[in-house]
Amino acid sequence: MRKLELHWQILIGMILGILFGFIMTYPSWGAKLVSDWIQPFGDIFVKFLKLIAIPLIIASLVKGISDLKDISKFRNIGLRTIGIYIGTTIVAISIGLILVNLLKPGDGIADSTITKLSETFASDAGVTSKLEMANRQKESGPLQFLVDMVPDNAFRAFADNGLMLQVIVFTIIFAISMLLIGEERAKPIKNFFDSLNFVVLKMVDLIMLTAPYAVFALLAGVMVSSSDPELLLALLKYSGVVILGLLMMIAFYTLVVSVYTKKNPLWFLKEISPAQLLAFSTSSSAATLPVTMERVEEHIGVDKEVSSFVLPVGATINMDGTSLYQGVAAVFIMQVLWPEGLGLSNQLAIILTALLASIGSAAVPGAGMVMLVIVLEAIGFPADLYPIALALIFAVDRPLDMCRTVINITGDAMVSMVVAKSVGKLGQPRVEDWDDYYQPVKGRKDK
Ligand code: ASP
Repeated sequence: MRKLELHWQILIGMILGILFGFIMTYPSWGAKLVSDWIQPFGDIFVKFLKLIAIPLIIASLVKGISDLKDISKFRNIGLRTIGIYIGTTIVAISIGLILVNLLKPGDGIADSTITKLSETFASDAGVTSKLEMANRQKESGPLQFLVDMVPDNAFRAFADNGLMLQVIVFTIIFAISMLLIGEERAKPIKNFFDSLNFVVLKMVDLIMLTAPYAVFALLAGVMVSSSDPELLLALLKYSGVVILGLLMMIAFYTLVVSVYTKKNPLWFLKEISPAQLLAFSTSSSAATLPVTMERVEEHIGVDKEVSSFVLPVGATINMDGTSLYQGVAAVFIMQVLWPEGLGLSNQLAIILTALLASIGSAAVPGAGMVMLVIVLEAIGFPADLYPIALALIFAVDRPLDMCRTVINITGDAMVSMVVAKSVGKLGQPRVEDWDDYYQPVKGRKDK
């Protein structure tokens, strides 16, 4: 029998996980059974993915840059990437703002619902911890993010997944220096990293073999910890607006893929789908990064010179789904709690602050909600209402986080194709002969 393709296996794992989690919400012992005996396997999988993120970034960025024939090409890639990232994020926020203003999900939310949501969540640890994190974030100056990008200790940066940009800065300088000292002297290091790169990619592959089981565990865990269905229903219109906006982003990406790169957009979605399914299951662009890189390089044909820079940078600074969500959530909250703040100037301010906030959001579950507080602050939203504001949207944050993370990584993949095409580095996919396979490779020739 032909083996089912990986994305189908993952999808089946997800559906079974959702069904199983749903059934387990009925018996009184169900939630505990899932969180004690099933969820840990999902957590182990996410840890494995995170474990290889930093080695993969280092190995592939060194390989990507040191294969360049001239450095000015790298500057070209860098500037284009940042420019396009800003462009797609502005498109995302604008779509969100147009939809939320047209469909007005905040109108008609009953006072009793607001009271119930605030009673349930305003002092919930989830909300208060997000407010605390936002407070810490607020204290820094406008250029702090630049200062934070530069490591003062390379090994400390390698030791913290939250410091991915620092790792990228170090590795870029390291790889450029390799180019500058000449081929002969750089050779031993280059060989080492080339080989490391293969090993780490194989590790991604091995970990992915367990993905169908892991997503089962992750989604069963999400199901048993989700909120009261009545509250979810009250927020259906708001969630619908966010999801509609996210779907429009997919349409926008497929349009760009077909018009600019001349590739079939359905093929693009199919090839990137295992990464999308993982983004949905883990709610973390950072955890998904190794898989996004593998799919984009091997299955879509983006050259490593481009993907090794565009994707890790994108995972940290390009979050189209998150910024769209921040736009919709900020206006929804105003529609419910502070209608007098809904003027045009505030909406324009949201575009700018949501852009900066999505750049500043960490690529981990729930980060978008922390930065939402910064957006609210920037438009002068009354500070005493913050806990109620967050309580209002907290019940549906996890499912929306899952969806927006899918868009975040799809946007990164799309931009990597566009940048690659613009510098002549979008080639044919080259799937490794070890793909989705765990037998040793015999007699294989390297690239
Ligand atoms: N979970 C998102 C990500 O990792 C960030 C967010 O929107 O909360 O991309």
